Amino acid sequence: MKKKINIKDLIRPDLRNIKAYSSARDEFSSEDDMIFLDANENPFDTELNRYPDPYQTRLKSKISSIKEIPAEQIVLGNGSDEIIDLLIRLFCKPYQDKILIFPPTYGMYKVTADLNAIQVEEFFLDKHFQLDFKEALKRISTHTKIIFVCSPNNPSGNTTEKEKVLKILDNFEGIVVVDEAYIDFSTEDSFSAYLDSYKNLVVMQTFSKAYGLAGVRLGMCFANPEIVAYLNKIKPPYNVNTLTQKEALQRLSSIENVSEEIKLILAERNHLADALKNILWVKTVYPSQANFLLVKVDDANMRYRQCIDKNIVVRNRHTQPNCENCLRFTIGTPQENQKLIQTLNQLQ
Ligand SMILES: *Cc1c(COP(=O)(O)O)cnc(C)c1O
Repeated sequence: MKKKINIKDLIRPDLRNIKAYSSARDEFSSEDDMIFLDANENPFDTELNRYPDPYQTRLKSKISSIKEIPAEQIVLGNGSDEIIDLLIRLFCKPYQDKILIFPPTYGMYKVTADLNAIQVEEFFLDKHFQLDFKEALKRISTHTKIIFVCSPNNPSGNTTEKEKVLKILDNFEGIVVVDEAYIDFSTEDSFSAYLDSYKNLVVMQTFSKAYGLAGVRLGMCFANPEIVAYLNKIKPPYNVNTLTQKEALQRLSSIENVSEEIKLILAERNHLADALKNILWVKTVYPSQANFLLVKVDDANMRYRQCIDKNIVVRNRHTQPNCENCLRFTIGTPQENQKLIQTLNQLQ
């Protein structure tokens, strides 16, 4: 069964004892009733003249109550993309360590690894985008530090079975990151329920998809408090700005709107899937647990260009592994989807 995992042993050796930058806002928040002469800010009020809270205390406590995850198990970043970068830098030693990914999947794992001089081991999903986890586990070497599991997966839209992810967690002594950017569109539960059982589990979510705030750049990371403490040490002190914290709090205060939008998007996804299946040149509409559909067509490059000519931008995934002639359609508003269906139906 499960081996004992010591987080400190997994941290990049030169970061184990790193001293964090001690920021002016570490000890007192600008909400405290004090005179702040410590951070060389302009004292005149613009509502933004103060540095943001480096630990986003109010926002995290709101997220904590919604997600039912203790605030000390949350790290927020400038998008999930910053979280991915922080995780790779925290656990992987450049020119030595590796990450393992399962393409076709989100492109930022590899880009970020490349930028940090971390090798990327790729084990492809099969043609139905399923993971052969037994074969995948054979790709682990002594230098494999992180496995990224994207579920629901982008661009295929399917989830990875819970049992498979748990097997990976059981059999791998490094970090398993489950990227749940699309979890709010899925019928599956979040892996955050397993944070207490698996010290090596890290779960990522984002405000960019279901929460409708891609523009604010806010990513969430849920992990055990020890990992969180290390991430807090290495993150840029003011990585989540004041405007972002405000907007996110406001959105969360009317969370029922988010749920309504998700419901509408899911209904539209089913509607669009049905409509696509009736088009002659559409070969396969893959099942989706996300807010997009991956669709195999007769000639993806041609259909992509035809859509552009009609002022509709979709994502061409033709060059991705096992995605030959596949396009990815994000679910739009009912009007946008109707326009898309009309347009596609008229293509020769
Ligand atoms: C869109 C997406 C994200 C979101 O990244 P942000 O930096 O938070 O916008 C993360 N992971 C996957 C798989 C995605 O598709």
